[in-house]
Amino acid sequence: MKHDPSRAIFEMKQFGEFGDVNPSITDSATYTFLQAKTMSDTFHGEAEGCFLYSRHWNPSNKYLADVLAAMEGTEEGWVTASGMAAITSTILQICSAGDHIVASVSSYGGTFAFLQNYLPKFNIKTTFVNITDLEAVRNSITPETKIIYTESMTNPMLQIADIPALAEIANKHSVKLIVDNTFTPMILQPAALGAHIVVYSMTKFINGKNDCVAGAICGSHEFIGSLIDVNNGTAMLLGPALDPLRSSSILKNLHTLHIRMQQHSKNAMYLAIKMKEAGLRITYPGLPEHKGYETLKRLMNPDFGFGGMLSIDMLTSEKASRFMELMEMHDVGYLAVSLGYFKTLFSNSGKSTSSEVPEEIQHDMGLSAGLVRFSVGLDHDIERTWKEIEKCLEIMEN
Ligand SMILES: *Cc1c(COP(=O)(O)O)cnc(C)c1O
Repeated sequence: MKHDPSRAIFEMKQFGEFGDVNPSITDSATYTFLQAKTMSDTFHGEAEGCFLYSRHWNPSNKYLADVLAAMEGTEEGWVTASGMAAITSTILQICSAGDHIVASVSSYGGTFAFLQNYLPKFNIKTTFVNITDLEAVRNSITPETKIIYTESMTNPMLQIADIPALAEIANKHSVKLIVDNTFTPMILQPAALGAHIVVYSMTKFINGKNDCVAGAICGSHEFIGSLIDVNNGTAMLLGPALDPLRSSSILKNLHTLHIRMQQHSKNAMYLAIKMKEAGLRITYPGLPEHKGYETLKRLMNPDFGFGGMLSIDMLTSEKASRFMELMEMHDVGYLAVSLGYFKTLFSNSGKSTSSEVPEEIQHDMGLSAGLVRFSVGLDHDIERTWKEIEKCLEIMEN
């Protein structure tokens, strides 16, 4: 791997105004100028290093965005008030009425709902495909297509997108490849693999504390500039700016991401192997029988493992519910949506984070009603966790 994301973060030198090792928090919405001309230059994007108004840029947000860009190996970044804000601002910046998108049918429920239910208001249409079927991706592109959209590891099916192959298709047709890398920060570097824009829900692994929602967009200097253009930038005009107090807390958490990803991956691999041995219907991209295993091995940064996400199919939603309630009682983790937390979280995808996807489509993409998605936590004693899960399974049988 040429680019080491943790090293890129480690090498950032950001200080506060008194040499504070954590950059100062800029608790201001507006900024004063000594010369009126500098203000008007700033409005026209012609004054380097000047801040104008915190919906546009805030120094604390810039510190975080700079570190994210370094991690992704992109020219720039911009941080948003949620992952959905990052996704919707990016898409709306690129698409106009009449345009078309090719998207992975297995996508976060909110993203699916935005593409399927919301964008048609603006006459922007989406064709959903199995993103691992490159022929289907090629065949779905029309002269109106502006975007190929996918998650690097898809929710909830945990498919692996072949980012270089998708980038090749995107480049051939001059469309943008947007990759949501929420499930696999550090493990995958979509921009280095050819994606034009990388989006994140920082709510998940990046922040890792479940104390806020936040998002990020990483891309070229030109693209980020267009997003925050005062005259027609989607982010500037719709205004989903992140609060600087939050930026500063996320920035500190970003510095432990590499250690957390390693532990999430280690624990998930341990559970995946045990679950497989126990005869459960397990999906984990780190198991050789997973359809995306070879792709992931080829694209990943091996230092950070195969990720913290796995799923097991309990066949019915009733069984899934009972199993999750038992696991919560046995201190395996919490029955909750979201992921990337220090505790294990589990939810029944079809009835929660993918409930926006109509049942027929859930069925077509192979999403079982009994699918329990796990975000494996940072447990020190994962053997104990497995023993508790085994007890829950025994109770289920009796
Ligand atoms: C949670 C999530 C989102 C949405 O992010 P929010 O921070 O909740 O707005 C988008 N994509 C993926 C893959 C997610 O898991």
